[in-house]
Amino acid sequence: MSAQFASSRGHAALVGFGAALRQGLAPDGGLYVPVSWPQLTPRQFGDHSALAEIAVPLLEPWLAGDALAPLLPEIAAEAFNFPAPLVPLDADGRLAVLELFHGPTAAFKDFGARFLAACFARLPGAAAGRITILVATSGDTGGAVAAAFHRRPGIEVAVLFPKGRVSPTQEHQLTCWGDNVRSLRVRGTFDDCQRLVKQAFLDPELGARASLSSANSINLGRLLPQAVYYAATSLAIQRRYGEPASFIVPSGNLGNALACLWARRMGLPIAEVVLAHNANRPVPDYLDSGDWRPRASVATLASAMDVGDPSNMERLRALYPGLAELRTAVSACSISDEEIRERIRAGYHDFGQLWCPHTATAAAAWYRLSPERRRARRWVLVSTAHAAKFREIVEPLIGRPVALPDSLVKLFARPAQCVEIAATLDAVRQALQEGG
Ligand SMILES: *Cc1c(COP(=O)(O)O)cnc(C)c1O
Repeated sequence: MSAQFASSRGHAALVGFGAALRQGLAPDGGLYVPVSWPQLTPRQFGDHSALAEIAVPLLEPWLAGDALAPLLPEIAAEAFNFPAPLVPLDADGRLAVLELFHGPTAAFKDFGARFLAACFARLPGAAAGRITILVATSGDTGGAVAAAFHRRPGIEVAVLFPKGRVSPTQEHQLTCWGDNVRSLRVRGTFDDCQRLVKQAFLDPELGARASLSSANSINLGRLLPQAVYYAATSLAIQRRYGEPASFIVPSGNLGNALACLWARRMGLPIAEVVLAHNANRPVPDYLDSGDWRPRASVATLASAMDVGDPSNMERLRALYPGLAELRTAVSACSISDEEIRERIRAGYHDFGQLWCPHTATAAAAWYRLSPERRRARRWVLVSTAHAAKFREIVEPLIGRPVALPDSLVKLFARPAQCVEIAATLDAVRQALQEGG
């Protein structure tokens, strides 16, 4: 039996994993979602605990029948080559932090980007050298994707980012690659970058030259591997305490949260899932009022979650079509910048932890739970980035410098190189053709 994926809008043909990966967005503009949910039991994972081992039984049903299926063990070994440690914050393990920032660019997006790159490199036809990956980024995604695809034969990458709207640390991560990675600093906004990527896909001239693909977070190949760390963590907690895990997920575009909910739907021992949003609050408002009102984003300290119209909302609604059902499945809250600051300070003083603003958003959501609810579950705060990526914010709050992890030290040692372009399709075309 081969796994099938359908568009969340329901007007596109069913496709297998490889095609969903290759296309990114479904032809009707929807997002690919599974048509059925294979059920897994903890026993199927044996005594595996490493991410690369958990990934195989977890993802096998999704790749079934696809050309990539026999390659899954090697794809998983390549993608999951760094750990996701669970750090307890109290003596009886009722509160812990899941650190997802030990990859090459120190944010959880490394998991999805590395898995996607390992898959792309093995897609039939990739060796012919005709794939160009375009990605528009407002921060962490572009760096993770560039790192994952750097020096992969047969694949070129172009990263578009808005001039003057990413932090200096982030800009360096977007421009320190070279070789098969082109960094395009666009004189425009993030919305311009996204528009240019969409236009490039429709451009016959670019299409004739190279087959374009996208690595943005709507790609199924980025979402599925994120279910692996939820499976591994919930199994570890179940084995150790005989209880399911509950997760608080810092959320923007909802890709990370969806991976957690998909893992639960497949039978992994996960109880509650709380979505911790910053001041961008369409999701918490929807759960409260039942009105879906996407809006323009507002700037917050947890900038990677500044999303006013989360694209994965379509996947959330496909999973829980009724509002009542959705309300029992998840809860959500909106955290202010003031609470984020307070949790960064308290994380350091009370627990000796260095939290980035996104992780602090999850901590603030836990802090808002009633004492009974806190005690009733085993809570895991999902830590999405290393504090050093946001040291301009964190250092003044805790009153000491935050050391860079080795991964970031290595990136900073590389020289930056990038091309600045106007926000027009012509400029993108020209930049892609030069030296290509
Ligand atoms: C992208 C990102 C998020 C938000 O994740 P979504 O999958 O978009 O909800 C949270 N924290 C950090 C550090 C990120 O880079």
